Amino acid sequence: MAELKRSVEIQKSPRLQAALGEMAAAIGGEHMHASGAELERVAKATIPQSKRPAALVTPKDRAEVAQLVRIASHYGVPLWPVSQGRNWGYGSATACLDDAVVLHLGRLNQILEVNKELAYAVIEPGVTYRQLRQFLELHHPDLWCDCTDGPPDGSVIGNALDRGLGVTHYADHFGTLCGLEVVLPSGQLIRTGGGPPNSKTWHTHKWGVGPYIEGLFSQSNLGIVTRAGVWLMPKPEAFVSFTFDLVQRKDLAELVDRVRDLALQGVLQSACHIVNEVVALCVLTQYPGEMLERYSRLPNEVLADLCRRYGAAPWSLGGGIQGTKETVRHVKRKLRQALSPLGRLTFLDDRSAGAVSWLSQWSARSAIGRMVAAGVARLAGKSVQMLDSAPHVHSVLKGVPSDFFVRHAYFKANKPKPLVADPDRDDIGLVWFAPVAPMTGRHVEEVMGMCRPLFERYAFDFYAALLMQNARSMIVLMSIFFRKEDAEQVHRAQELYETLVRTTAAAGYQPYRTSVAGMEHVGTLSLEFNTFLRELKSTVDPGKILAPGKYGI
Ligand code: ADP
Repeated sequence: MAELKRSVEIQKSPRLQAALGEMAAAIGGEHMHASGAELERVAKATIPQSKRPAALVTPKDRAEVAQLVRIASHYGVPLWPVSQGRNWGYGSATACLDDAVVLHLGRLNQILEVNKELAYAVIEPGVTYRQLRQFLELHHPDLWCDCTDGPPDGSVIGNALDRGLGVTHYADHFGTLCGLEVVLPSGQLIRTGGGPPNSKTWHTHKWGVGPYIEGLFSQSNLGIVTRAGVWLMPKPEAFVSFTFDLVQRKDLAELVDRVRDLALQGVLQSACHIVNEVVALCVLTQYPGEMLERYSRLPNEVLADLCRRYGAAPWSLGGGIQGTKETVRHVKRKLRQALSPLGRLTFLDDRSAGAVSWLSQWSARSAIGRMVAAGVARLAGKSVQMLDSAPHVHSVLKGVPSDFFVRHAYFKANKPKPLVADPDRDDIGLVWFAPVAPMTGRHVEEVMGMCRPLFERYAFDFYAALLMQNARSMIVLMSIFFRKEDAEQVHRAQELYETLVRTTAAAGYQPYRTSVAGMEHVGTLSLEFNTFLRELKSTVDPGKILAPGKYGI
């Protein structure tokens, strides 16, 4: 009711009305939504508390983006740019303050160029992982792009600007952006890199000449990126994926140290993910229905039972190996040497992934197929569900986006996992919390040692995925899953989130990325740093119209 009232008040603000009127005239009334289903869609987010947008505008090109910025600036109306707004768990398309106009760049969805020789593409922000991959498969099958294990219809540029992490050796998404075109809060269009205007190396020489300013447009509110170069990888001669199941929980620190050493030596190059048993269960199954109403955290014996049934190890590692056939053989040998003493290592190539996929389909169709699949799974020391998931893991590790993994967000949903996930649409409660640690077993254990008891105290399942950001840093990605229909649980999830934010920061761990709920806090982590950013902001955007409050600026 309160939200409805505020929405009506927003409608009545003459300044906003005038701005929206001009925006509608500039881009066409059908692309400005001050109410209705389109606006409701971008107002929804999975996080415990999200802000209410004033309107949604969907320009078609950079000229319209610049026009909208000028209008917003004239009327002092805040804009919140998103590319696809599928930043699930971090706030989706919602702003960190109420009453912003969401500027959705989904219609700027051109793949402008693919340079085969130098392996890069120039794209607009509405281009999704699915679109880019399909385009490459069709027109440039010798080039691959990275993706995340998140939404296939997320934006390549949006994720990179928020410094998201992918799955291959091109996982550092911001690191693989090169050469940006940006609309500034004044409406002025600039190119990063320092020129000349016909610069031949705009998309190949990341640092340009003079100060490197691309970082100013990442996790920031100083401009709207309307096109970017993104580096692609040549399809490797050979590719093998691997999974590793740790036998003893106590060996996690040792596993982290061994993975780091392999990465520092250059043996491991992909962004390996080490996930705990709760993550595995989210992928393989759903909360037992009868538990949903009664528990927000699975009782230990139920968790143990589920792990037995689904063959979930305390921690599992997954990654890809790519290169020449000799490189792949060499890496496999090194991995066996380093990891086999701690658990079970399994490799999958395209042929075996295809066979497993065929077996899964057969088992879905016939009783004999099910028996054969059960036998194969037993032999491999896996559950049938794990066997079914193996081809999906193999494929995503090659950078092929998939709907399979995002469905894990429905772990606590009171409906079956849909074929195509949309946690915003389906009122799923989910918020990510992602501090980053130096990549030593000691540091990673320290972070988890302070967070796990908080999950216990606030009665939520401890979901943790350790993502190798590079050979020196590990993101400790935690998710709080809660039921939105239970107000007490929503409140508790919010409290847990805030406690995690404060506790880890006090111990010297910063987030690698934050949800809109944590942005205010990020701005308090370093006074001098934030003061400098505020000075920049007041010069570049004196009217504070672009994403005010983003990352504490
Ligand atoms: P995705 O759909 O890939 O998850 P989003 O569009 O939700 O990505 O964007 C992720 C974050 O990056 C958001 O905080 C958003 O404000 C910011 N962002 C996205 N696209 C742009 C852009 N073109 N220019 C500036 N900031 C952007």
